[in-house]
Amino acid sequence: MTTANNETPARRLVVLGAGESGTGAAVLAKDRGFDVFLSDSGAIAPRYREVLEKENIPYEEGGHTTDLILNADEVVKSPGIPFEAPIIKAVMAKHIPIISEIELAGRYTDSRMVCITGSNGKTTTTMLIHHILVHAGIDASLAGNIGHSLAWQVARDPHAVYVVELSSFQLDNMYDFKANIAVLLNITPDHLDRYEFKMQNYVNAKFRILQNMTPQDVFIYWQDDPVITEQLRRLVVDARCLPFAEHQHDDSAAYIDEEDMLVFDTPGTSMRMPRADLALNGLHNVFNSMAAGLSACVFDIRKDDIRQALSDFGGVEHRLEFTADIDGVRWINDSKATNVNSCWYALEAMTTPVVLILGGKDKGNDYSEILPLVKDKVKAIVAMGLHNEKIVEFFSPHVPVTDTSNLADAIAACRSLAVAGDTVLLSPCCASFDLFKSYEDRGRQFKAAVMALK
Ligand code: ADP
Repeated sequence: MTTANNETPARRLVVLGAGESGTGAAVLAKDRGFDVFLSDSGAIAPRYREVLEKENIPYEEGGHTTDLILNADEVVKSPGIPFEAPIIKAVMAKHIPIISEIELAGRYTDSRMVCITGSNGKTTTTMLIHHILVHAGIDASLAGNIGHSLAWQVARDPHAVYVVELSSFQLDNMYDFKANIAVLLNITPDHLDRYEFKMQNYVNAKFRILQNMTPQDVFIYWQDDPVITEQLRRLVVDARCLPFAEHQHDDSAAYIDEEDMLVFDTPGTSMRMPRADLALNGLHNVFNSMAAGLSACVFDIRKDDIRQALSDFGGVEHRLEFTADIDGVRWINDSKATNVNSCWYALEAMTTPVVLILGGKDKGNDYSEILPLVKDKVKAIVAMGLHNEKIVEFFSPHVPVTDTSNLADAIAACRSLAVAGDTVLLSPCCASFDLFKSYEDRGRQFKAAVMALK
C-alpha cells in the first residue's frame, strides 16, 4: 500500500465504474491523497482511459479483481451499477462503506449547491436555473447528470455555485452531503426495478435530497403532487419551504393567478410575469419555470433579470424540441419522454391534432394514464419498436395504430397520416434501446430523417 506520508498509510478508495462520475471521483480522490484504484466490468471509453493514464491512476477494465477491491476503506459506486451486482454484494458483505461521487465531492467544497431531483423535468429545470444564475453574473456551473462531474470540477475547475441534477440512483449513496437549495419536482413511478418494485423505496431515495438541511437552506417542491405531500406529512423538514402549485394554496410561493400570470411570492421577492412570456411551452414547463424562478429568488436576483431569463431560455434538446415545419405539419422531438408521465405532459402541451410516435423498450408501462389525452388529441398512433404488441392491443380500440419496426417506416407512416395543421410528436413513453443506442441517438436520427423530408 502506498503512503501519504511516512507514518499514516493512505486510505484506499476504490471507484467502481469509469464513466464521467467515476473518473472524476478517481481524480479528486487522487488529488486528496487517497490510494485510488478504479475498476470497470466493461470497456472504458478512450477519453476516460486517457485521463486515468495521464493522472497515473491505477485501473482495470473488462472485469473486477476482488482482491484489489475488497481491501478498500471506502468504495465510490457509479450510479449505473445496481446494488444486485455481485461486486457490490461482496463489498456490502465486508461492510465497506459505499458512497456516491457527489458525496465524495461534497466533502471537499464549500460552494453553494442547488440540487434538483424528481421523476421528470430534472434536466430542463437544472439548465433553466443555471441559465438564470449565469445571466445574473453568478459563477454557476452545471453538474450531476449534465456536463463534467461534480468531483472533477471540485478538483480542477471550481465554481462558486453548482447546479446539480440528481437522479435517485445518485441520491442512493449520499449521507453527509447537503444541498443549500433542494428542488423536488414530482414523483411518479419510474425505475422501480431498481427499488425492489416498491414505490416507497423510490420515494425515500428522492427524499434523501433533504437530508442534513438546516433552517438556512431552502426546499422548493411541487405541492400538487400527492406522493410528495403524503410523504411530507410524515416528515419534519428543517429547511425553509417554498412550495409551488398550479393554483394558489395558503402557503404557495409560486402559482398561476386568474389572469394567467405567474406569481412569485417569497419572503424576499414578490413579482409577476405573464405565463405567455415563458420561453418553454406546456404546463409541465410552467412548473419547471416556477421551480427555477423560486431558486433565483433565493439568490436575490433582480426581478427583471429573472423575467428576462425565464423568457429567453433556448430550451433543451430532445425535450419538446421543435424540429421542422414541413408542408404545414409541425414535427416535434420529445425523445427524452421515456416514461408515460412525460408523454402525458407533452400531449397536454399540444394544441393541434397529433400523430403520436410511441414505442421502444417498455419499462412496465401503464398506458391508461394517457388514454384520455390520446382520445382527445391524437388522430393516429404510429408504433415504432421491436415489440409493439402491447401498444397495438391497448390503443387500437380507440385510435388507428400503425405498426412499424424501424424509424424510416415510422416517418413514412406519419408523413401519410398527418395533414397541414397537424403535429407529429415523437414522445415514445419507452426507453430507446431496442432500435437505438440512447434517447439522444433516437432523437438525432428522428431529426435527421425529418430534415431529409424537406
Ligand atoms: P429528466 O431529466 O427528469 O428526465 P427532462 O427535463 O429531461 O427530465 O424532461 C424529460 C421529459 O419529461 C420531457 O420530454 C417532458 O415531456 C417531461 N417533463 C419535463 N418536465 C416535466 C415536469 N415538471 N413534469 C412532468 N413531466 C415533465
